[in-house]
Amino acid sequence: MIEADLILYNTSQVHTCASQGKPKKGKSMSDTGAIEQGAIAIKEGLILEVAPQSEILKRYGSSKKLDVGGMAVCPGFIDPHTHIVFAGNRINEFEQRVSGSTYLEIMAAGGGIMSTARAVREASVQDLVEQSLPRMQKMTEYGMTTIEIKTGYGLDLPSEMKMLQAIEQLAALSPLTILPTFLGAHAFPTELKAEPETYVNLVVMEMLPQAMEWFKGSSFFQKGLPFFCDVFCEQNAFNLEQSTRILTEAKKIGYKIKIHSDEFTSLGGIGLGIDLGATSVDHLDVATVDDQKRLSMSETVGVLLPGVNFNLGSTHFADGRGMIDRGCAIALSTDINPGSCPSPSIPLMMAIASRYQKLTPAEALNACTINAAFAVGVGKMCGSLEKGKLADLVVLNQPDHRYLSYEFGSNPVKYVLKKGNLI
Ligand SMILES: [Zn+2]
Repeated sequence: MIEADLILYNTSQVHTCASQGKPKKGKSMSDTGAIEQGAIAIKEGLILEVAPQSEILKRYGSSKKLDVGGMAVCPGFIDPHTHIVFAGNRINEFEQRVSGSTYLEIMAAGGGIMSTARAVREASVQDLVEQSLPRMQKMTEYGMTTIEIKTGYGLDLPSEMKMLQAIEQLAALSPLTILPTFLGAHAFPTELKAEPETYVNLVVMEMLPQAMEWFKGSSFFQKGLPFFCDVFCEQNAFNLEQSTRILTEAKKIGYKIKIHSDEFTSLGGIGLGIDLGATSVDHLDVATVDDQKRLSMSETVGVLLPGVNFNLGSTHFADGRGMIDRGCAIALSTDINPGSCPSPSIPLMMAIASRYQKLTPAEALNACTINAAFAVGVGKMCGSLEKGKLADLVVLNQPDHRYLSYEFGSNPVKYVLKKGNLI
């Protein structure tokens, strides 16, 4: 008998979301790799084996056993797209919006991303950490075990570096796996609105190299984690030419690539991302059928953020159903941020995606686990319950995983385990 640190047993089903080392595309997204009455043996934070309980209890012994009371178990959730580090809030703007002001009117009055940027510029690293940590804790309560975090509210060199430092401190304070992304090209700062090329030069010539230098001295680099560069490719943000210049330079100096594309207008950002071998292309609300087909033939994961459409009161959503039917690998994310989606709940995103993007509960589960892991370049390390992967998992408070999409507004998560430890 092999000695394990922990055996988790008495499940209804274990949904492994196993994927043979690649993201799930098309039809395979409807397979959750369910093992009826499965059990899991864990040692040193890693999964030894997932199999039917009768086999696990025959092969493994442990002084520590976790009886989950007949509930369903799935991999810990992974959020591949967040703006969780920020200062202040945009509650006033939200109220103005529901009272009839348009997003453009609010922007013209100094609101939007720039109002958060002002608050971030005034905040210390410590302020950012103190304000962001409770948001991460809330995400954890909803089953999150890995989170990507973007900069992009500094929009000048010192403030963007401050955001990177805050992300590293958050990673040190939390048991979660954190992945950093440099998003200096999130918006043009007010002071350079009239000189966009000056800001692009600043991003390319100063911010990208300095952020990479920071990364190489960071704990993320020591752990072998990737570092991403992201750009908001959109009308009134960065056009295709500017996005191409920034991301091409970023790739040259060692960044992995992500792109915010096709949220409101289709400028060609999806094709750019695919051509550069992007890890993910995100939003895709107005992605053309041609771009969806190209995405299906690439290694790039499409990340959908349906909480944004919901929060903005829109009835238009990215064509998740069409993308899966065309063979794309799709992931879901909260996009948690103070303006367009102030929600820490990934199960809520599954519920919205099922209703408005017609993802089945099984597709939504794979989209928040294994495909989300590949959307942040850690699909070989986590995202599914397979031998040798991190023992990051969620015990639901229901015996059926479909409750994740079916019920909404409540928290369906009973326990969260990170590297085999209850958190
Ligand atoms: Zn975003």
